[in-house]
Amino acid sequence: MTEQIKQTRPGKVYLVGAGPGDPGLITLRGKYLLERAEVVVYDYLATPKLLKYVPKGAELIYAGKKGGTKHTHTQEEINQMLVDRGRQGKMVVRLKGGDPFIFGRGGEEIEQLAAAGIAFEVVPGVTSATAAATYAGIPITHREYTASVAFVTGHEDPTKKDSNIDWSKLATGAGTLVIYMGIKNLPTIVENLVKNGRDAQTPVAVVRWASTPEQHSVIGTLETIVDKVRSEGIKPPALIVVGEVVKLRDTIDWFEKRPLFGKRIMVTRTREQASELVAGLEEDGANCLEFSTIHLEPLDSYEILDGELERINEYHWILFTSINAVKYFFHRLHEQGMDSRDLKGVAVGAVGRATGDLLLKYGIRVDLIPETYTAEGLAESLLDLGVEGRNILIPRALKAREILTETLRGVGAQVMVAPVYQNVPAQGDREQLRRVLENGEVHMVTFTSSSTVNNFLSLLGASDQDELNRFLKGVKIAAIGPITAKTVTDNGLRVDVQPNEYTIGALNQAIVEYYRKK
Ligand code: SAH
Repeated sequence: MTEQIKQTRPGKVYLVGAGPGDPGLITLRGKYLLERAEVVVYDYLATPKLLKYVPKGAELIYAGKKGGTKHTHTQEEINQMLVDRGRQGKMVVRLKGGDPFIFGRGGEEIEQLAAAGIAFEVVPGVTSATAAATYAGIPITHREYTASVAFVTGHEDPTKKDSNIDWSKLATGAGTLVIYMGIKNLPTIVENLVKNGRDAQTPVAVVRWASTPEQHSVIGTLETIVDKVRSEGIKPPALIVVGEVVKLRDTIDWFEKRPLFGKRIMVTRTREQASELVAGLEEDGANCLEFSTIHLEPLDSYEILDGELERINEYHWILFTSINAVKYFFHRLHEQGMDSRDLKGVAVGAVGRATGDLLLKYGIRVDLIPETYTAEGLAESLLDLGVEGRNILIPRALKAREILTETLRGVGAQVMVAPVYQNVPAQGDREQLRRVLENGEVHMVTFTSSSTVNNFLSLLGASDQDELNRFLKGVKIAAIGPITAKTVTDNGLRVDVQPNEYTIGALNQAIVEYYRKK
């Protein structure tokens, strides 16, 4: 499709609303365009999380602009950039926070494009006013409280003589007022509203970083809000919502009530696997810091596996101890021109449900899943079936625990280990890891295997137990199962959360329970 747009169309600039911060709030049209962009010019308030949709190789330009402070580019430079790229025939997405035409200078950018004869299109976005109200549990209108809303900029100094804002009319002219860019001028804004007839007892909400895991809201009245905002240290970007509808928050507040809201959880997993746990925790409101400790890589040589695949029908069992083993095994199987049909007649065992579910996707219904999802559990259930003299193939990581192999060999099984992938420690950033821990930015760390524990600790590189304890002071530890937990305690640390079932879902649930009880 990129090709199509490129070949059949001259350059065009798309002004796209990114929404308020939650990346899920961009429009489908906006996402469609990002996926085809050749150039993306994005703002401070347009969440960088959306950049994952942009094709590799596209030019990314950060246009900055943080209320009042340092500007990365002036508005003139931005306008010029858009005109230049459009003229070069590029498919340009100008990504702007919220809605491009609501206090976003979108109109000015389009005027420049129009003057230069560059084709353009505008895609609206969820403006931060509606998002802030909604995510703070405030319906912006309500039949019983208000029939009108006004969006106002608080950026203008309300004492300036030639102000565009007529506060005498605004103060009582609209039921709900939503004020953008008003934190700095909050005292004068409040004073003007009250002076011009708005009841000092009118409820007010101030919402910072609305719709993101950092959302922070402060509730008061016109009389109290200035002090409250000061004492809570609220800085931009924040919105001010004024009106009786703010009262409904008592009933409707939903976003901040999610069980893990306000919790910062570091998820240490292989980069390839982090997403499921992160998605679940975020759904419960957590702010996840993904920390990659392990990286999976294919092997240089598949000689052993290839040899065994040639005589695969001599095997009685194939055992899979992880979903990665499944993925890499089948990848190689397919590369060798074979598929699941070549495994006919061989029984298949999986260490747990996730591994079993994945096998089904490859067309294999497993014959055995142990009650306890560990290598020990798998070994035990095989012993129950009797495996003496049986040929067993175990495709797995290059380095792994030998417990399954040893137990089965111990009872006379012919076990062949075929490495199919390797775990290499990720090249993480030690300074960054230490910084977030030292700043107390992490409430909990999750471990989903012994190697995530070991690699996390070696990356952290504490010189002794005291230093390690200092880094992890106040940080809770969640471990997926007993083996992982033992690795944690072997390192002199305490496990705070451990589910009964060793699955990602159960770990997620156990973390929710842990904080619910607190
Ligand atoms: N076009 C944007 C507004 C740009 S003006 C929109 O439609 O939302 C910038 C102001 O928007 C900030 O000063 C702040 O008042 C508000 N704002 C933007 N994103 C916000 C967010 N996530 N939380 C609270 N306020 C936000």
